[in-house]
Amino acid sequence: MAKQPPAQFTNPETPGYVGFANLPNQVHRKSVKKGFEFTLMVVGESGLGKSTLINSLFLTDLYPERIIPGAAEKIERTVQIEASTVEIEERGVKLRLTVVDTPGYGDAINCRDCFKTIISYIDEQFERYLHDESGLNRRHIVDNRVHCCFYFISPFGHGLKPLDVEFMKAIHNKVNIVPVIAKADTLTLKERERLKKRILDEIEQHGIKIYHLPDAESDEDEDFKEQTKLLKVSIPFCVVGSNQLIEAKGKKVRGRLYPWGVVEVENPEHNDFLKLRTMLITHMQDLQEVTQDLHYENFRSERLKRGGRKIEDEEVNKDQILQEKEAELRRMQEMIARMQAQMQIQMQGGEGDSSAVHGHHV
Ligand code: GDP
Repeated sequence: MAKQPPAQFTNPETPGYVGFANLPNQVHRKSVKKGFEFTLMVVGESGLGKSTLINSLFLTDLYPERIIPGAAEKIERTVQIEASTVEIEERGVKLRLTVVDTPGYGDAINCRDCFKTIISYIDEQFERYLHDESGLNRRHIVDNRVHCCFYFISPFGHGLKPLDVEFMKAIHNKVNIVPVIAKADTLTLKERERLKKRILDEIEQHGIKIYHLPDAESDEDEDFKEQTKLLKVSIPFCVVGSNQLIEAKGKKVRGRLYPWGVVEVENPEHNDFLKLRTMLITHMQDLQEVTQDLHYENFRSERLKRGGRKIEDEEVNKDQILQEKEAELRRMQEMIARMQAQMQIQMQGGEGDSSAVHGHHV
């Protein structure tokens, strides 16, 4: 692993500080006053530590009253969408953060349906934005479009699962995907390197488009350039989350206590958590711009091509065409069956006086 100066990913002044108040140098004054609106979606099999990581990232308890279903319920369950919004303020800079969780993803036996729910959710937000944008009150549009999706990959497999591949391919033209390897504390450094490489290879092999950090502009300072390079080579980020504060080296830190020691969430030598957070914070605006210029534009031009019809309308249409075709096929099959039956009768009738027929013909 590349050795990095820890100072780049820690905030010694206020440990456990999210850090978006440092953004103003890359953001317009106006948006500082108005605050940011950002929507982050988290997807991955249940139990991979998604909610724990989100709580660790934003230092809030976003899911205080969560009920975790048992296996029997999970079989029945389809994926749900749970959006929670929090307003965080740091040094006068406001962030209206919406986290969209997708509990139930990967639980059901048939996962295709869970794709549908998530995709419809993403499309609905685009749809709403498009509607508001063409309305009269364009100044106060609430932007609920999904700007980024953290996709959680299990640390226990040997790379991507078919479900991971299929899902990422289904959404990669709609949202910025940031792949993360969950529960990195269960992997040795060597295993992490191997898994990261394997995942990157598979992402390339399958033509999956993930979010690419833009190169730092040439006029940025050297530290920022260095940081961007380090972030780039760390993808997919190997993360650890925890809801507990533990005493380590005389300080209280977020961490996981094991018989052999403490895994510190915010220690860059222990895992990529701070890199993930730095990536999210320093590239929040780029994630929003890519959403607007690429994904939303894709959606808009698709809609225009369809003559303004919604995707669901198209699906209804497809269903209708399919039904009509099936009805036609059924009618033809019935006709063939009737013809066959008639031929059978004729042949049977013919067989009865076959000699006579024979005689006539020859
Ligand atoms: P979710 O279903 O994906 O939201 O997962 P949860 O956040 O509810 O976590 C499931 C379980 O994994 C809990 O017992 C957590 O304490 C544990 N967990 C969460 N993050 C980590 C991690 O980084 N490492 C390890 N080893 N366990 C974790």
